[in-house]
Amino acid sequence: LPEKYKGSEYTVWAEFIDLALQYKPLNLGQGFPDFAAPAHVTKNLAAVAGSDEPLLQQYTRGYGHLRLVNALSKIYSPLIGREIDPKTEMITTAGAYEALYSAILGHVGPGDEVILVEPYFDCYEPMVTAAGGNCVFVPLRPTKTSGTILSSDWKLDEKELEAAFNKKTKIFLLNTPHNPIGKVFTQAELEMIAKLCKKWNVLVLSDEVYEWMVYEPYKHIRIATLPDMWERTITIGSAGKTFSVTGWKTGWAYGPANMIHNLQVVHQNNLNSINTPTQEAIARSLEEEIARRNSSDCYLVSLAKELKVKRDYMAKFFTEIGMVPTIPEGGYFMMVDWTPLASKVGLAEESDKYKDYKYAKWMTKNNKLQGIPPSAFYSPAHKNLGENYIRYCFIKKEETLKKAEQILKTWA
Ligand code: PMP
Ligand code: GLN
Repeated sequence: LPEKYKGSEYTVWAEFIDLALQYKPLNLGQGFPDFAAPAHVTKNLAAVAGSDEPLLQQYTRGYGHLRLVNALSKIYSPLIGREIDPKTEMITTAGAYEALYSAILGHVGPGDEVILVEPYFDCYEPMVTAAGGNCVFVPLRPTKTSGTILSSDWKLDEKELEAAFNKKTKIFLLNTPHNPIGKVFTQAELEMIAKLCKKWNVLVLSDEVYEWMVYEPYKHIRIATLPDMWERTITIGSAGKTFSVTGWKTGWAYGPANMIHNLQVVHQNNLNSINTPTQEAIARSLEEEIARRNSSDCYLVSLAKELKVKRDYMAKFFTEIGMVPTIPEGGYFMMVDWTPLASKVGLAEESDKYKDYKYAKWMTKNNKLQGIPPSAFYSPAHKNLGENYIRYCFIKKEETLKKAEQILKTWA
């Protein structure tokens, strides 16, 4: 294995997906819905597969199937407040993962620094390392430890943030709504980040895959809409999250042409193009959403309403058993402090280095309930900040959440 991949052989996903296959727990680990994707979306894919238009089964335009980039431009242009050129300011990718990879490989070189906000979606770090860059970490810290804790109570310290920037800083990697905290960055927080990025001439890579899952009264703000930020921002989205079809692995990025060009170069030397049928089906589905954009039936609006009920249900049962959830404002994960029940967990039976791994594995094996240990989302120096927590996913059927409640209440 080349040096640049050393240290990234292990991922929490490989380990916990295998663990789930072995122990068959109720799976609130890796994030994906266990209910049916919206019928119009799956019907569109079936129609594409059965279409008598033969070219729909063949390669499509490398930088993005035209019908899809056109639909994406129609969705995002009004939200960004400028006409996004679907051919030069947009690219479609194999999931948000590939958009992240192309953006990082297309901008980071040896010695460049990328600022990551901890906890961070774990793949950011190995991508930066593969590009020859170095990560600089700034943690979100909970500013409250008792009473009801909201994801907005997790904050960046302005001084710590400032100290992370220097002449070598190339990218600030933002994730809002945030995985795993569920934090939706506020206007003031984004302004603080934008000010520093402008001062140090840094570009922002904004991972907004959970953009449609924001719970009232919170609002998703795209950092690309802040003054003078379009020029330095690449924004990433995912059809998997947008339409509850994570297995389709189709994503995209948009931003100024000079920066999207760099993603196109990496992409064309990697995959060249992604699959045509899912792009066509997603395009047709987005067109349908555009047509009912202001109606409550629009999936981009209705999903968050459904999820809010699930969020509240989950937060309630964790509170009732004595664990302490951080109530998320966005996304579909909940961080829960499990340590009030630590005396009931057979921590000594597990040999992992970090307590949250011990808890997560013990619960999978003994109570058949799986979550993800958040220390996986921290740099080695800060893993202790994640150890008291477990991340549970709540984009699940009511029945699944009820079963989780039963498991926990029987045990606790
Ligand atoms: N970014 C974040 C923050 C995520 O949680 C995920 C989850 N999969 C991704 C990117 C990757 O998205 P995709 O499945 O579209 O590759
Ligand atoms: N984004 C999802 C999660 O955080 C899926 C992760 C993955 O597939 N690696 O659970």
